[in-house]
Amino acid sequence: MTHTQETSLSELDRQEVHLPQAVAVLENATSVTILCHIQPDADTIGSGLALALVLERKGIPVQVAFGAPDELPESMRELPGTHLLVPASQVRRNVDLLVTVDCGSAGRLGRLADRLETAGETLVIDHHRSNTRFGHINLIEESAESTTAVVVRMFDLWGVDIDADVAHCLYAGLVTDTGAFRWVQPGTHALAERLLATGIDGARIARRLLDTHPFGWLPMLSEVLASAKLLPDAAGGRGLVYAVIRQANVGGLRSEEIESVIDIVRTTSEAEVAAVLKEAADGSWAVSLRSKSDVDVSLVAGNLGGGGHRFAAGYTATATAAEIVTSLVDSLG
Ligand code: 5GP
Ligand code: MN
Repeated sequence: MTHTQETSLSELDRQEVHLPQAVAVLENATSVTILCHIQPDADTIGSGLALALVLERKGIPVQVAFGAPDELPESMRELPGTHLLVPASQVRRNVDLLVTVDCGSAGRLGRLADRLETAGETLVIDHHRSNTRFGHINLIEESAESTTAVVVRMFDLWGVDIDADVAHCLYAGLVTDTGAFRWVQPGTHALAERLLATGIDGARIARRLLDTHPFGWLPMLSEVLASAKLLPDAAGGRGLVYAVIRQANVGGLRSEEIESVIDIVRTTSEAEVAAVLKEAADGSWAVSLRSKSDVDVSLVAGNLGGGGHRFAAGYTATATAAEIVTSLVDSLG
């Protein structure tokens, strides 16, 4: 473990960005590996593929990978640049520059975390509040809507021409991480407009990523939502609502169907905090947390071994569902 990883960070450090250093290290790289987080979403893949396309055009050898699962989620297979993806087992051990995108900690790299040790330089590009700054260079902007928004700022300084293929990847991260433009700030729509002006089909990208599920999604939702629980006294009386997705509920459904459940559960008006417990094939659980205004779930998830953003965070746990709920309620105070 490096000194940087052990040092606790002041608020000032967290907000510091290193755009010129990031551009310089990319400009000078002779080979680049880009790592996305495990159980990848469209922000990590969109950021990774956009950067990979730009490097490919500059003639710099590049590969993109994620530690798990083996296959790219189906909804992301239309993104340009997937020809630059390689299976985790084929990721080079010695690379000039390793870039991680949308990863708040080294653990989010899963089985590929060891590649940090053997890379010449490491560049961490992210927007997570909980980022541990595990790179040599850390380009972290917690105020950014998505990691793809951070990548755009870097491209602008670098003088990159954002064409339709690159814009498609960048828009994928923006539309998903803003909850289809629910969680926006000044500048979000201007960025979307700029990407759309390249000619990409925003409606098609959003439909494929967010609004396309097989019929089997409906009975799964019905079963899982029927067993949702509301604990009005939890979180200091602000309320917790949660649902549990067991392997038996999942059948052949994809990660896209499983990840959609939290967006329904979190709308419950009687609860400030929403949780979905997702059972993995090995019996461990991934927990998604969401809050609305008062509770910082990145801190709650951090206490339980994970991380994330103020209003959206997660962690993994190995225990029974009942034990996970008990420790979550304890952590919420
Ligand atoms: P989701 O609930 O959509 O899986 O994740 C919500 C947010 O929490 C994302 O920004 C994600 O990066 C973060 N997150 C989810 N699971 C984990 C985890 O196990 N560890 C860490 N550090 N962050 C997580
Ligand atoms: Mn993100």
